[in-house]
Amino acid sequence: MAQAGDIWDLEADVVVIGGGAAGLPAAIKARDGGSSVIVVEANYDVGGHAIVSGGNVPLGGGTSAQKKYGIKDSPDTVFSDLTDWTVVENNGWPNYRYNDREVMRAFADNCAPTFEFLLENGVKFKEIAPDNQGGHCLGNTAPRENHAFWTKGAGLESPNARPGTGLMRPLEDSARKKGVKFLLNHKMTGFIRQGQKSGAILGLTAEYSPRIMPGQSTPLKSFRSDGNIESTKPSVRIRAKKGVIVATGGMTSDVNFRRMYDPRLTEVLTVAGEPYSYQDASGERAAMEIGASLWGLVNQTLEVGDQIRTQRVLGTKWNYMNWELESPIFPLVKAVGLTLKDWQNVILVNQVGKRFFDETKGDYPHGNVAGDIDPYTPNDYRNHDKIHFHPNHYNFFNAAVAMNEYSEPPEYSGGPIWAIFDADAVARNKWIVEPPHVDPDGYFFSANTLKELAAKIKSEFQAKPMSGEVLEATAARYNSFVDKGTDEDFGKPTPKYKIAQAPFYAAWGTPNVHDTRSGLRINANGQVLDMNGQIIPGLYCAGESAGGFNQHGLGRCTTQGFICGGNAAKEPSRG
Ligand SMILES: Cc1cc2nc3c(=O)[nH]c(=O)nc-3n(C[C@H](O)[C@H](O)[C@H](O)COP(=O)(O)OP(=O)(O)OC[C@H]3O[C@@H](n4cnc5c(N)ncnc54)[C@H](O)[C@@H]3O)c2cc1C
Repeated sequence: MAQAGDIWDLEADVVVIGGGAAGLPAAIKARDGGSSVIVVEANYDVGGHAIVSGGNVPLGGGTSAQKKYGIKDSPDTVFSDLTDWTVVENNGWPNYRYNDREVMRAFADNCAPTFEFLLENGVKFKEIAPDNQGGHCLGNTAPRENHAFWTKGAGLESPNARPGTGLMRPLEDSARKKGVKFLLNHKMTGFIRQGQKSGAILGLTAEYSPRIMPGQSTPLKSFRSDGNIESTKPSVRIRAKKGVIVATGGMTSDVNFRRMYDPRLTEVLTVAGEPYSYQDASGERAAMEIGASLWGLVNQTLEVGDQIRTQRVLGTKWNYMNWELESPIFPLVKAVGLTLKDWQNVILVNQVGKRFFDETKGDYPHGNVAGDIDPYTPNDYRNHDKIHFHPNHYNFFNAAVAMNEYSEPPEYSGGPIWAIFDADAVARNKWIVEPPHVDPDGYFFSANTLKELAAKIKSEFQAKPMSGEVLEATAARYNSFVDKGTDEDFGKPTPKYKIAQAPFYAAWGTPNVHDTRSGLRINANGQVLDMNGQIIPGLYCAGESAGGFNQHGLGRCTTQGFICGGNAAKEPSRG
């Protein structure tokens, strides 16, 4: 670990690590508080997962938008909703039972002010009443979802034409206008504290990490450059006179780290938001090295909402969404992906070649939102009685991830899930089954017989070859279910289409990991605590890297950035 007292390359009052949903509000708020601010960002451009997100921003508690549309809400209601231990999803798992009450109170009190802050800093939301669209774990009482406004060609360049750009580019523009400096292409590698595990945070180290796409010779460049600090020194030491804010987005991209929470999360699962940006636990790891504690680990393991999702994009490794050909990172993504509208068009098989569930149960269920429990009495255990239980829906999580045959020594690796379909399915869906729509390099295969197809499947994650006999038997049995109109194995409602017309196809259909829901222990101010519950002076954390809060996404991240930025700016200067 670097020692305190060494020479610094750069300095600012507040240094924010990560320029995503938590980092940009943190930077602006610290700047508004009179501090000089540097954002250190590992990627070639800002935005993190947030810029490729759906841009649905859950913020309530009495926002101007809620008032405009006559929706009653208050900080107390947000707090009550998001700490209600009686609310469970339709598989019985609780949404809010393990939320940290101190963290939630801070969120509830800052939720509406954060919404107004976003507006003041140029974010535009669609002119519609807040609703539940895209919502997960928003609370049962009031609609709280706002939708960032973004259209192509309106000057807000997106890495993949995604609505989250309507949230992040305006924040970036505001930050740059206000004088926030950006050190892009630099990955924070460690914190510098007065003692190994004592005293205040003095700064951090960061490594130059330019991103060069396959087939290109120069690194990618950010769309905006005013305020960028240019440095190609292999590593820099950055002094933070008041504080450092960890906004690195969590740990889903770090397989070893994520498996501490949930052993099922093996290498085979890709991560939504990759390969634009990575949430590689670097914030958590660096903070733990200097004594920080993790918190609320159960929230990662709960089978609620969208922790692990299967998506309707097939035939590409990066299957959370379709990628645009114009995306600057397309050379890495390699395929747009095939969009599946109806699960009747495919069967899903494990790496052995066997079906394992009703494919129509593949979509993930959303977490609790307004009106899910009706009537709802806050904190009354009888809320359970009004849930329509249907645990079957969640079989996918277990079947796909944990129960893979061939999970054997020495790695016990989970295997991929393949969508199997035929030429008729291609015609029905008007799919183009060649690059750049699919990635034949390990994620898409075709053959004239199912036996040949099985033999062709070769992937870095396929532990052993798939047996052609097994795949043939699986398809034959499924075809007999289509004749009978009944899926005798898994109850798929009236199986519609046979897999009978050559050529046959196997397309990557493995689920992905979506959210980090557990992370560093923080208090109401966003200050990071150590294993003894003591504040680590000068260290803050916001967003997915922070623990104690089970909710999906942009609401909690922007609000915690808002909280941390304001508080870090109020710290005494240490130098
Ligand atoms: C495809 C997709 C769709 C989504 N849609 C929605 C939605 O509609 N609504 C919603 O509420 N939520 C949504 N989410 C979730 C939401 O985007 C995230 O919860 C949110 O962006 C997390 O914010 P964050 O600041 O913690 O992390 P991020 O936004 O991921 O930002 C973290 C940043 O830190 C950088 N970083 C990481 N490590 C380092 C390091 N060591 N040094 C320097 N920089 C580092 C990363 O490069 C990244 O830019 C979506 C997520 C994805 C992936």
